[in-house]
Amino acid sequence: MTAPGNPAEKYRFNSPMWRDKGLAARALEEMRALTAQVSGRTGKTVNIMEVCGTHTMAIASSGMRRLFPPGLKMLSGPGCPVCVTSQGDIDSVLALAALPDVTLATFGDMLKVKGSNGLDLNSMREKGADILVVYSPLDALAFARSNPLREVVFAGVGFETTAPLIAASVLRARKEKLKNFSVIAFFKLVPPALKLLLSDPKNNISGFLLPGHVSAIIGVEPYRFVARVHKVPCVITGFEPLDILAGINMLLRQLARGRAEVEDEYYRAVKKAGNPTALKLIAKVFNPVEASWRAIGRVKRSGLGFSPEFAGFDAARRFKIAYREAPEPRGCLCGAILMGRSQPPDCRLFAKACTPSSAVGPCMVSSEGACAAWFKYGG
Ligand code: SF4
Ligand code: SF4
Repeated sequence: MTAPGNPAEKYRFNSPMWRDKGLAARALEEMRALTAQVSGRTGKTVNIMEVCGTHTMAIASSGMRRLFPPGLKMLSGPGCPVCVTSQGDIDSVLALAALPDVTLATFGDMLKVKGSNGLDLNSMREKGADILVVYSPLDALAFARSNPLREVVFAGVGFETTAPLIAASVLRARKEKLKNFSVIAFFKLVPPALKLLLSDPKNNISGFLLPGHVSAIIGVEPYRFVARVHKVPCVITGFEPLDILAGINMLLRQLARGRAEVEDEYYRAVKKAGNPTALKLIAKVFNPVEASWRAIGRVKRSGLGFSPEFAGFDAARRFKIAYREAPEPRGCLCGAILMGRSQPPDCRLFAKACTPSSAVGPCMVSSEGACAAWFKYGG
């Protein structure tokens, strides 16, 4: 598919070519010139936040950070689902896993995130808790169907990307009249997180590289306020190295010309209106609610909770799990990293007390975490 006039088009000749070294070299050359133009005019470093954890990993694993010009700084953002899950949310999941009749179903990334009591799901499993690692909430549903005497609770963390599939599994459970399936809902929404980041001038973000998968669900419109109200340019970007280089250059071009718009580099996957089917599923089962973000605190309408019609599937309600705020592990800078104020090596625990095999905070646990990316591939 072609989109004449799309600024990303100049990087697309013969698809697939997302790793073409010659094109990457040209993109980097353009990046140097644009960065010099922008930072030369403002006298400041250009701070670009990659909101999504997969972008963080892609930037680290391709080694491209080392090739970026010195006037350009990439900041990791609040786009890793495990990293933004608050300590209080993790404690609730661990409390559910401790219940004798409950099988806690979760994605593997959650296994090593420690609760405030120092335990994680892995160590609870060793002590006898019934924890099931699944690849999809539909696997958890299948387990509930074949084990009617177990209460199966799915740990629902993630963004707009995971919520539709979980909504679909809840609808299926209702249709099948399954009584032993529920979800602890800790979903987060990306646009309110951007709003929060922009509300604090200390954060100093020049532009956003916006998440590809989330945008495939929500489309382009929900980000417009970033450009219109806050005058910060945005580019929705794919995950291949050339996508990322093209996305950064699109941001730099906006900055160089004094524009602030929402552009879509990932138009092969992201449509203007997003995915209406997925959005309908979310709207049917969930409502926007206040959510607790790690080290950031509670943010109004930044999460998804069950609508009254589906409240019976809410595991917190079913098992009377009271939410309690809990502090982050001592010395851990995950919160500052998620806000783009610190980089992993700024944390005094990084690569010392905190490593992937013995992680203190979620940014080192998650496969999309900034600290894990920095530890594995360097800065
Ligand atoms: S779900 Fe996709 S878009 Fe969202 S944080 Fe993960 S990789 Fe990024
Ligand atoms: S290095 Fe570990 S303790 Fe420090 S910010 Fe990263 S995850 Fe948290």
